[in-house]
Amino acid sequence: MSVPFRLESRLPRVGTTIFTVMSKLATDLGAINLSQGFPDFDCDPALVDAVSRHMREGRNQYAPMQGVPALRQAIAGKYAAFHGHRYDPDSEVTVTSGGTEAIFDAVAAVAGTGDEVIVLEPCYDSYVPGIELSGATPVIVSLELPDYAVNWDALRAAVTPRTRVIIINTPHNPTGAILAAHDIEQLKALVRGTDILIVSDEVYEHIIFDGAQHESMARHAELAERSFIIGSFGKTFHITGWKVGYAVAPAALSAELRKVHQFVTFSTNTPVQHALAEMMANPDGLRRLGPFYEAKRDLFLGLMDGSRFRPLPCRGSYFQLMDYSGITNEADGEFAVRLTREHGVASIPTSPFLYRSSAPKVLRFCFAKKDETLERAAERLVRV
Ligand code: GLN
Repeated sequence: MSVPFRLESRLPRVGTTIFTVMSKLATDLGAINLSQGFPDFDCDPALVDAVSRHMREGRNQYAPMQGVPALRQAIAGKYAAFHGHRYDPDSEVTVTSGGTEAIFDAVAAVAGTGDEVIVLEPCYDSYVPGIELSGATPVIVSLELPDYAVNWDALRAAVTPRTRVIIINTPHNPTGAILAAHDIEQLKALVRGTDILIVSDEVYEHIIFDGAQHESMARHAELAERSFIIGSFGKTFHITGWKVGYAVAPAALSAELRKVHQFVTFSTNTPVQHALAEMMANPDGLRRLGPFYEAKRDLFLGLMDGSRFRPLPCRGSYFQLMDYSGITNEADGEFAVRLTREHGVASIPTSPFLYRSSAPKVLRFCFAKKDETLERAAERLVRV
């Protein structure tokens, strides 16, 4: 479209996100939507009741910029209980309007022109645009198939005197891979004695399987001291549409993050924060989330047994990658569209998360769905 003024896109390579594209296609075609990551079941009704109660009681004006104190205390309490790390709720915990906002805030707060930010591809699609808008340069390192392991030699080789941030994501979207104890040792050795900061996207922190330990940066003092850790209530309480997340980081880093947060959204919606603080009082729900989704993963895998899709290892998150090379040679984006049109199941290709490597023949399926949704979808997929 031509306009009578100079207009240069700040993000010339960016279109509409694949999540929006595939969810719309699913809706338009009436397909089963295993694409965008969100549950098709409802949250705990007690949470909805609590939000309404706080609304009725008049908690409807701006929350404090850094978040409601009760929720910040609850977040700090969770890190102490789960990872043995004490964050000061006043100066080290910030509530944001979703994990995506927190990631953007963290990167924009510390990286700018002349800085390099390392990301591991495939990576969540908001990282690179956030880096570019901040004026920094994304440096892409590829995870290694088949299990999307970090190639530590490649990561070390990508570090330069200009490296400002490394973005980590565990459990990993879109692959379901997790960092293990040996990865943490490598990461410690990599950043020791440098000025490199870590932005650790841990939004799937409680969705981890097969008895594995979530290796939060908060478990390792040496990493916590230079990390922004990002969390998401959407993933944890089945409320992705409420868009509430948080960042925890040492006070000096949190202070910088808050300078950005206060001018991006100022503060996050008030009644929801009060309700979440109440829900966080009982951590049992958080501990049940892993087994809950592990059962869904196993159900989906069992139902797909005998199909021509081949599952890749999934150790956390609510995404299952499926290799479709036994079915077709089509590129992943093309096949995802055809699968939606002809077989009525929407998925997510990994190509939008890749910058350097060509996309393998895999699609991402979200299993955060009712059992009957997974059954109906698998019935269609096994016929492909
Ligand atoms: N995080 C979700 C996913 O990976 C989608 C979020 C979004 O649509 N922006 O599917």
